[in-house]
Amino acid sequence: MRDITRDVVVVGAGVAGTTAANELRRAGLSVAVLEARDRVGGRLRTDTIEGAMLEIGGQWVSPHQDALLQVIADLGLETLSGHDDGDSVYVGRTGESSRFTGGALPVAESTRAEMVAITARLEELAASIDPAAPWDAAHAVGLDEISFQQWLRAQTDDREASDAIALSVAGSMLGKPAHTFSLLQALHAAASAGGFGNLAVAGARSARRVAGGMQQVPLLLAERLGEDVLLEQPVHELRWDADGVSAVAESVTVHARWAVLAYAPVLHERITFVPPLPRHQQQLHQHLSMGSVLKVHAVYSCPFWREDGLSGTAVSPYEVVHEAYDDTRPGEAHGTLVGFVSDVRADALLHLDANHRRERVLASLARYFGDRALSPVVYHESDWGAAEWTRGAYAASFDLGGLHRYGADLRTPVGPVHFASSDLAGEGFQHVDGAIRTGRDAAATIIERARS
Ligand code: FAD
Repeated sequence: MRDITRDVVVVGAGVAGTTAANELRRAGLSVAVLEARDRVGGRLRTDTIEGAMLEIGGQWVSPHQDALLQVIADLGLETLSGHDDGDSVYVGRTGESSRFTGGALPVAESTRAEMVAITARLEELAASIDPAAPWDAAHAVGLDEISFQQWLRAQTDDREASDAIALSVAGSMLGKPAHTFSLLQALHAAASAGGFGNLAVAGARSARRVAGGMQQVPLLLAERLGEDVLLEQPVHELRWDADGVSAVAESVTVHARWAVLAYAPVLHERITFVPPLPRHQQQLHQHLSMGSVLKVHAVYSCPFWREDGLSGTAVSPYEVVHEAYDDTRPGEAHGTLVGFVSDVRADALLHLDANHRRERVLASLARYFGDRALSPVVYHESDWGAAEWTRGAYAASFDLGGLHRYGADLRTPVGPVHFASSDLAGEGFQHVDGAIRTGRDAAATIIERARS
């Protein structure tokens, strides 16, 4: 076991940890970053599978995510627009598919009117929420006591209207069924993204991808840290007192004045804290859980859907694959569709063997794009719920009532121990943008403490 001493030890070389470490370095503090995996990037991973470059984890950046856009520019990376020419496809409650353009789903006139009215109510409520402190909102307790599903169903008897709106936060963002989280949590998700209009399909349309893959962001940040990033070093013990911390990993112990724990909060239980974290933190962490999402890629010899005038964008609250997009990169001859299977649909699918799962996913894509979708040349599923150092997708969120009860302490340091990760973010919650913001905030607090 090697002992090293630094000003700050950062646990986790995802985008939050590598951001925090760079900020600390810039302020003249020495750092060591301990990473459990044999690679940098955490939930960002760009890989080549059977010749196709695929984004296994996070990939899109939206126009409002200015923290991430700034880092992308600073690192000299370029962004690519998505392919959205042509019609999108919607599968409704009766199982019929129909084409549409623009943001409004091709539902019955009465359903559309209900959706417009409910979305306006939600936008108004979300506008009254400070993404950094949703627990301070007027009526936060009441908003946190009712599930998103209950609230939606109290607004309308039109099930298709409530199902479609529920999907934009439940399946598409938190990766959980709408009865398991509160209206306040849904409003926070929307407020953190600049409004409901920026979520799900409408938001994805204006999103861009990073040339070379999103994992370039943490990889280039880590490159700047050189040998201060130590891989295959899962931290299993953190000793702390008022004077500092010792992080005990696989073959190294880092003694430091401060620590930044930069990973999904469901992973705190992997570390023995000596002494234990205060009871409030221990309770808080039990009320956060990861969503469940399978991200699937199907690569075809060509983007055949474009020949039919389809954009590759598809959505349905009733399909196994609840949304799909054309993920072909400029210059590629083959065509790639990326689809998402979330919450209870993911649970059901994961009970099947690999062949049956594939069949179900491709049959769902075929209902959107026709039978040619049944025969990809490459098929890949990524299940982050099975990844030991992540345990779900896209990130963690509070159960019903947890946000107003514990949220204010999400990012509060405990002695020398500071917290960062997209899961704790105000703006950019659950996104790369939020991970960067929390990494910066944790570093800024430590820099201030170091100077005082
Ligand atoms: P992580 O990336 O999880 O990094 C934490 C790191 O800590 C990991 O490397 C982990 O191995 C390490 N670690 C954990 N415990 C220990 C320990 N005890 N010791 C040492 N190391 C430890 N966001 C977007 O903005 N756009 C998207 O399109 C998008 N799509 C997504 C699709 C999928 C399938 C997934 C899974 C996520 C997606 N996200 C997206 C979310 C985004 O990827 C995450 O919010 C973000 O990458 C989280 O960064 P982080 O640094 O907070 O945490």
